[in-house]
Amino acid sequence: MAALPLEFIARMRRWLGDEADAFFAALLQRDIGLRLNPRRGDVAALAARLPWPTRPVPWCEEGRFLQDEGLPLGTHPYHRAGLYYVQDPSAMAAAVLLDPQPGEWILDLAAAPGGKATHIAARMRGEGLLVANEISRRRAAILAMNVERMGVTNAMIANETPERLAARWAGLFDALLVDAPCSGEGTFVRDSQAIRDWSTATIAGNARRQRLILDRAAPLVRPGGRLLYGTCTFAPEENEGTIAAFLEGHPDFRIVPLPALPGMEGGRPDWIGAPEALRLAGRFWPHKTAGHGHFYALLRRDGESGALPARWEGQSVPGRIRRLYRESLEAALRIPPPEAGLYLSKDDHLYIVPMEPRHWEGLRILRPGWWVASLRHGKIGPDHALAMALAPDEAAARCDLAVDDPRLARYLQGGFWADEGPRGWVLITVEGFPLGWGKRGGGRLRSKYPMHLRR
Ligand code: SAM
Repeated sequence: MAALPLEFIARMRRWLGDEADAFFAALLQRDIGLRLNPRRGDVAALAARLPWPTRPVPWCEEGRFLQDEGLPLGTHPYHRAGLYYVQDPSAMAAAVLLDPQPGEWILDLAAAPGGKATHIAARMRGEGLLVANEISRRRAAILAMNVERMGVTNAMIANETPERLAARWAGLFDALLVDAPCSGEGTFVRDSQAIRDWSTATIAGNARRQRLILDRAAPLVRPGGRLLYGTCTFAPEENEGTIAAFLEGHPDFRIVPLPALPGMEGGRPDWIGAPEALRLAGRFWPHKTAGHGHFYALLRRDGESGALPARWEGQSVPGRIRRLYRESLEAALRIPPPEAGLYLSKDDHLYIVPMEPRHWEGLRILRPGWWVASLRHGKIGPDHALAMALAPDEAAARCDLAVDDPRLARYLQGGFWADEGPRGWVLITVEGFPLGWGKRGGGRLRSKYPMHLRR
């Protein structure tokens, strides 16, 4: 880890006084969290199956906290099976504070790599719509992988600027998350680049950019809707300062009290002479509770909106392809193939789309919804994202592998093994959790694990 900038140390000492030594010691700790995926089962039961000792995160029932001793959290088969997402405990507070409800329309404006978006999705339980947007194309692709890995079925992945979204979708969302790009002081222990980039000029530049992003975000919130702003930095200019400037320019928004979470303290407007109302914001401190530290402010837009559009239940697929789709998926599944919202993209992918296509056509959309199948050489095959959202008994055929089964490594590398069962698609699971598809035929079971995920 690079040395902390002297000016950062001086600022924090000035503000924290007697607490500063404890703060700097905690800032260097490498503890980590993971968030269990309720889609894979009861979270207490999932925690009991983890091969590492963990402690609960007091403000997030899906959260677990563990000592980072170089554990293979990101490469374990359970990670590939979407059992958990590696996430700092203080970042888990975002979805808890936003409190997404099943059926709502929610936009995560700066969503990659997807920690908070997949948490929001888990709490929506597949109902309503989550638009997970990311301005960087490269990062949006990582976001899509994580959304699929966690078995999310009600998300659209967009790769847009906040201004283009605001121009199309004014007043459309019950709730917005703006997890803003920031100086990342809370992530210094893992991100030496953030240390090297740190300066008061960078902080001022971030604050300007955050104000712009929030200005663009404001019209997207429906009257009566909510906007949660968050950063993983301690710099008050990017926190209380950004929100104070936003409230001044947007009299139709108010800062509202956050639900009380254990370990979360109030905002610190006194550090920069911001209005007292900013005490309603929340701060997580690494020396006081689990995690690297975070800032949150919850804003509500005045007014009330009429009914928002319902989830799209239409179809835009030619009859011949719909029949092929039904036939192919009826053979692969024990449940009726999902059809409400079925959409065929120009590149022959079939999605279950929650938002009517005319609302998003023309925008840069990486995934308009849940990718369930693809048409190739006149045939339809189920997609990886379909496998990742299935309960094991929903597939017509299944092959379950233990974590130490040598076939598991072969599967993840795209290999095959001898298998004499009936021909067709087989859901491959690891100890009951989905990994992807295999295809059986000619005495073999061949891996259909996607190329870009293979070891
Ligand atoms: N919410 C994410 C999560 O939980 O995994 C982390 C988001 S990260 C703190 C901030 C994101 O903002 C980055 O992915 C970055 O690419 C994006 N970003 C940078 N500039 C932006 C801008 N002008 N408008 C919108 N997003 C931007």
